[in-house]
Amino acid sequence: MTAQIINGKETAAQVRTELKNKIATLNSAPKLAIILVGNDDSSLIYVRNKQKAAAEIGIETELYHLPENTAEQTVWEIIDDCNRNTDVNGIIVQLPLPAHLNTHKIINRILPTKDVDGFHPYNTGMLHNNEKPYFIAATPLGIMKLIQQHCPNLSGKNVVLIGASLIVGRPLATLLLNQECTVSITHIHTRNIKELTQKADILVAACGVAKLVKADWIKPDSILIDVGINRDNGKICGDIDFDDVVDKAAAITPVPGGVGPMTIAMLLQNTYDAFLIQHSAL
Ligand code: NAD
Repeated sequence: MTAQIINGKETAAQVRTELKNKIATLNSAPKLAIILVGNDDSSLIYVRNKQKAAAEIGIETELYHLPENTAEQTVWEIIDDCNRNTDVNGIIVQLPLPAHLNTHKIINRILPTKDVDGFHPYNTGMLHNNEKPYFIAATPLGIMKLIQQHCPNLSGKNVVLIGASLIVGRPLATLLLNQECTVSITHIHTRNIKELTQKADILVAACGVAKLVKADWIKPDSILIDVGINRDNGKICGDIDFDDVVDKAAAITPVPGGVGPMTIAMLLQNTYDAFLIQHSAL
C-alpha cells in the first residue's frame, strides 16, 4: 500500500482563500511589521515569500531591513515604535539574528498581543499551561492542522518528535500533549532514536538532517510529518527518506508542498487574528 499524501499546499491555499474573503470585509487592511537584520540568503527568501503571500490576500507589510551590525538598542526602538503604532497589528523578527544580538531580549520586547510568531514567553507560557495564548507559532500550528485532518482523535496516540527546537519541536510537543498524546521528544543527544520512532503512531521529523528517517525507523501504517528543508544533490528534500518509507506509512507530508506552505498560511492567520484582537473582536 502506498501512503496517502498529506497535501499541505492545498490546505494552505484553502486557508489563504478564506482569509482573503474575510479581510475583504474589513474597513482597513491588517498590517504586519517584519524586522530583518543582515542579509542571510535564506532569510531574504523567507521574508520575500511572506511579503508576497501577505499581499495576495490583502495584508500590508512593512519591512525594516537593517544592516548586519545594527545595535540591539536600535532594534528595540523599532519594536517599541511598532508596539505603539496602532496601524501595526503584528510584529515578527526574522530569525536567526546576527550573533551579537540577544534573540530572547528582542523577542521579549514585542507586545504579546502583536507577537504573531508566538515566541514571546507570555504566549509560550500560556500554551505550556494549556490556556489560550494570543498566538501559537506558525509551524507547529500548521502541523497540528495537518495531523488533525488525518487523525481527528489524538487522545492516547504515541507521538515521537525528532528535534527539540524552540520554534518547532517544543511548542509542537506541548500542543500534542494538550491533545492527550503521549509525546517523546528526541534530539541530537538521544540514544537509540530508532527504538522510539519504531513505536510511533505519528512521527514528526524536524532536525534538518536530509533523509535521516528510513523505512526501518517507522511503524507500519504510521503518520509521518516531515518538517525538514534540506538539499540533497541540489534537490530540496526533507528529514524523511520519502521514497524509502512511502510504501510502509499510512500518510506522509511531501517536501516541498507539505509543512512549508502551512507555516506561511498560519502566519497570515495569526496576523488576521491580531487585527481582530486589537479591534477587540476576538
Ligand atoms: P534547529 O537547528 O533549531 O533544531 C534542530 C533540532 O534537531 C535540535 O533539537 C537538534 O538536537 C535536533 N537534531 C539535529 N540533528 C539530529 C539528529 N541527527 N538526530 C536527532 N536529532 C537531531 O532546527 P529547526 O529550526 O527546528 O529546524 C529543523 C528543520 O526544519 C530544518 O531543516 C529547517 O529548515 C526546517 N524548518 C522548516 C519549517 C517549515 O515551515 N517547513 C519551519 C521551521 C524549520
